[in-house]
Amino acid sequence: MPRLKICPDCGGKMQKGRTKFITESDEVLIAIENLPADICIQCGAEYLSADVDEYIETVVDKVVAKKIKPHRELVYRAVVSA
Ligand SMILES: [Zn+2]
Repeated sequence: MPRLKICPDCGGKMQKGRTKFITESDEVLIAIENLPADICIQCGAEYLSADVDEYIETVVDKVVAKKIKPHRELVYRAVVSA
């Protein structure tokens, strides 16, 4: 999937960056940090690639299905290193 060079919202320049994704599901807070994203330097819009979207979905599914236990109490935290 090609990276975005121009922001679809405002036409500003996109920059590679990192972002985090936080969601709450079944009373478990899922926080995934350091996700690669294209971020607009003008309006701050963040776009995740299909791969990253898929990764998030997989993690959320596993936590919801209790295949992976939250590290602490009710928080599952993952940090992407790549
Ligand atoms: Zn923008």
